[in-house]
Amino acid sequence: MAVRIEIDRYDAKSAARGTKRSLELIADIGLAQPLELPVLQIEGAEAGKTLLVLAGVHGDEYEGVETVLRLYRDLQPERLKGSLILVPQANLLSYRGGTRVSPEDGANMARVFPGNPEGTPTERIAWHLHHRFIAQADFMLDLHSGGTHYAVSTLVGYYHNDGTEIGRRSRAAAEAFGIDLLWAHETIAPGRSVSSALALNVPWLYTEAYGGRRIRRDDAQSFYDGAFRLMRHLGMLSPEQSGAESTADMQQTASRRIYGDGNFDGSETAEADGFFIPAVSLSSDVRKGERIGTIFGFDGSELQHVCASRNGVVVMLPGTPAVRKGEPLFMVAPSDISQA
Ligand SMILES: [Zn+2]
Repeated sequence: MAVRIEIDRYDAKSAARGTKRSLELIADIGLAQPLELPVLQIEGAEAGKTLLVLAGVHGDEYEGVETVLRLYRDLQPERLKGSLILVPQANLLSYRGGTRVSPEDGANMARVFPGNPEGTPTERIAWHLHHRFIAQADFMLDLHSGGTHYAVSTLVGYYHNDGTEIGRRSRAAAEAFGIDLLWAHETIAPGRSVSSALALNVPWLYTEAYGGRRIRRDDAQSFYDGAFRLMRHLGMLSPEQSGAESTADMQQTASRRIYGDGNFDGSETAEADGFFIPAVSLSSDVRKGERIGTIFGFDGSELQHVCASRNGVVVMLPGTPAVRKGEPLFMVAPSDISQA
């Protein structure tokens, strides 16, 4: 059972060493019912770093939620150094709606950080996440996937800036995470949890996975194993115990790196309403001009030959074949930094 407290009274540092706690943080977000934000905390037997893991910033993405619930169940405080703070559902409004945006205000939470304490419901939740969680963390992991609208490569994204401490830490953590496709972002569009983290000088990673509102076992396992690798990388697991919960080993995988800002809002869009049949699979390398797929009409006609506009890796395809003119259709991330 969760302990209910007013969000103003929440203090991550008040947890007793060597304990787990489940909280429900009550916050006025300008709706008839207050927000009841679930927070799970594992407080290690020894002091150490604070890792914040967010799931459900988009309420139709479920892989991260499973990861967080499994972590809370499986990891014992005596094995942990530091604090693991887990938010299993950062955006309850959009989760309840089963939608990427919150039905109450139409807002995409990943566009409103750092939020506003007097703004719309989504802006208020983002404000609490920024000030009460991200600001307190030594590292942030934000778990995403394709959700309803997109099919996305399983990858880990990080801040690519070797000239700064936060960049070096983000990169090292990405390389330790164990997913072999790394998305190196030199710039971050505003409004994200990760742009909040950057502003607060908190190193970060985020993940993507296939999505589609169905959890693929391989993706869930990649996130779970990655979280353990990340904790080990951050020195948060006692070494003699660190293999017990997960089969993840510390072996470095061969990685592929892609570039660009990773903003799906900037994807290539469909030029016609129709039925899309892809010619390539996610994560495949394509050359400029290569066919990505075709949009068909039900009269059998080919309405649009969809081609790559640059060399790179296909990181996003439509989540459903029924596509609409003007909506995001695919994204190729450049594999060469000079084209980013
Ligand atoms: Zn997302």
